[in-house]
Amino acid sequence: MAKTPAATMPPWLDITRLRSIDPANQQWRKQIGCADEPPVTFMPPVTIRTKTGVGYDYLPAAAICARCPVRYPCLAVWLRHTPSDIDRQTGTYVGGTTPTQRILIRRHMRRTAA
Ligand code: SF4
Repeated sequence: MAKTPAATMPPWLDITRLRSIDPANQQWRKQIGCADEPPVTFMPPVTIRTKTGVGYDYLPAAAICARCPVRYPCLAVWLRHTPSDIDRQTGTYVGGTTPTQRILIRRHMRRTAA
């Protein structure tokens, strides 16, 4: 059974680059790497139950996002337009990140805001 990735910041993520994305620029949507993928890939059913909670199989979605040329704008727009409390509940893998990773990213961005 697949394991849920550990709750760490994505190793590929450059926060400075993420901050530089203009969420109003929607040109990136022409290059999305998941246009033909079923939504269930990014919102997988619960696959792991433990004493402390549940886990999801994000590995198929992670493989698709890893090849996607628009991870940064995808993630920037998601972070901008999805309230953090809603984001936690969705269980959605998006922009190369799990919901738990996005909590860490949001926290890091708040702490390091100019
Ligand atoms: S980064 Fe992932 S979720 Fe975002 S457009 Fe690309 S494949 Fe889709």
